Amino acid sequence: MQNNLFVYNTLSRQKELFVPINPPHVGMYVCGPTVYGDAHLGHARPAITFDLVFRYLRHLGYKVRYVRNITDVGHLENDADEGEDKIAKKARLEQLEPMEVVQYFTDRYHLAMDKLNVLKPSIEPRASGHIIEQIAMVKKILNAGMGYESKGSVYFDVEKYNQTNKYGILSGRIIEDLLSNTRELEGQDEKRNSFDFALWKKAQPEHIMRWPSDWSDGFPGWHLECSAMSAKYLGEQFDIHGGGMDLLFPHHESEIAQSTVANHKSPAKYWLHNNMITINGQKMGKSLGNFIQLDEFFAGEHAALQKAYSPMTVRFFILQAQYRSPLDFSNEALQASEKGFQRLMKSVETIEKLVPSSTSTVDIAALQAKCYEAMNDDLNSPILIAHLFDAARVINSTFDKKENLTADDIALLRTIMHTFIFDILGLLPENDPQSGNKVISNLMQIILDLRREARTNKDWATSDRLRDALAQAGVLIKDTKEGVAWELE
Ligand code: ZN
Repeated sequence: MQNNLFVYNTLSRQKELFVPINPPHVGMYVCGPTVYGDAHLGHARPAITFDLVFRYLRHLGYKVRYVRNITDVGHLENDADEGEDKIAKKARLEQLEPMEVVQYFTDRYHLAMDKLNVLKPSIEPRASGHIIEQIAMVKKILNAGMGYESKGSVYFDVEKYNQTNKYGILSGRIIEDLLSNTRELEGQDEKRNSFDFALWKKAQPEHIMRWPSDWSDGFPGWHLECSAMSAKYLGEQFDIHGGGMDLLFPHHESEIAQSTVANHKSPAKYWLHNNMITINGQKMGKSLGNFIQLDEFFAGEHAALQKAYSPMTVRFFILQAQYRSPLDFSNEALQASEKGFQRLMKSVETIEKLVPSSTSTVDIAALQAKCYEAMNDDLNSPILIAHLFDAARVINSTFDKKENLTADDIALLRTIMHTFIFDILGLLPENDPQSGNKVISNLMQIILDLRREARTNKDWATSDRLRDALAQAGVLIKDTKEGVAWELE
């Protein structure tokens, strides 16, 4: 299969033509959330970035197996090898079984992703369901002499690995710098070097998530789970490994080291990393009080928000930056996105009202080529959106009779708008509160027609009954000058 898609590969530090190992199949692994809290703005960016990659590869005709894991064990506080497991801590505080915490926040994460119209991955494995594979991988690393056991835990020997391989190949970090930056941390006396990382951790007596192994009753290291699950579902070598830039080191760097030792090959051909979101120029953080959850955006319930922002506004806002660029949240920026998104959607409706001419005054095929060019240049969604705004201007000018388009060009323009806006960018019309569910819109139309008839007949009892029944069902209706509007609670 031919394509002109170039992606920036963190591994080679340059844009490379995307050539899958085994076309038309593409294997893509993306590090998913650690499910101990509600999804926030920081979760939305990797999800939407790799949704864009997933959608575009499928559009190009590839058969993509997209694996995005759920981290439900082994992710310790501060991403360190010491401290409490994030999920176990939440379970202790809430007096819940850890898997209750996992289920609750996994469900909440899925709901938020559905609202953002993020497609479901092909496989969503959980770390706790792959303990056997992880133990097998620890054994392979020990047999290769690249790991060592210490007081029931097993660590990866980074310094030894670096003698024959390059630890730092992905992040560009140099092990000598790591050595000189090493601080002696409390509780790290089990390790030969502080930058060695855990493959298996012996569980402390109070630690409830534990499994038996040759070394101890314990649990796997956080980096190991992605290596084990990606190899299981995509093979020892696959096409794309993605995640946020914050995972580049040590998480992804360590994944490469583990897989190289266990499977004798580097796991992924292309490493793609999305940049971070800042809020008013500041890093997001719980302690900074700017940690805005997605549901708070949708409801407008956070001190930092001037109003509610719909899921499609948030999605459009994220897509208005190229995924490798930093993205700064502000109310002004989101409100600009909201307006831009509505303008684009309005133009999609206007296409249907265009009257064809015998000749065209605009080159629509050239416009289509530019849209593909933008996507092929490392998924440059902001440039694509700029071209779509050009297309919207053409649509409006044609409607105003300032430009002319033939019937064929109008059809091509419709294809361009539908393909890029809906299929590739994954946006949905917003006036449809049920995310594009036409059935609900049509049903609402029937109900509102009945209510209007009742009012025309001065049958206030029926009119009020319909309004109250809708409110009970979670639909609010408002009488405005332009007619009756409705929204979901
Ligand atoms: Zn991972």
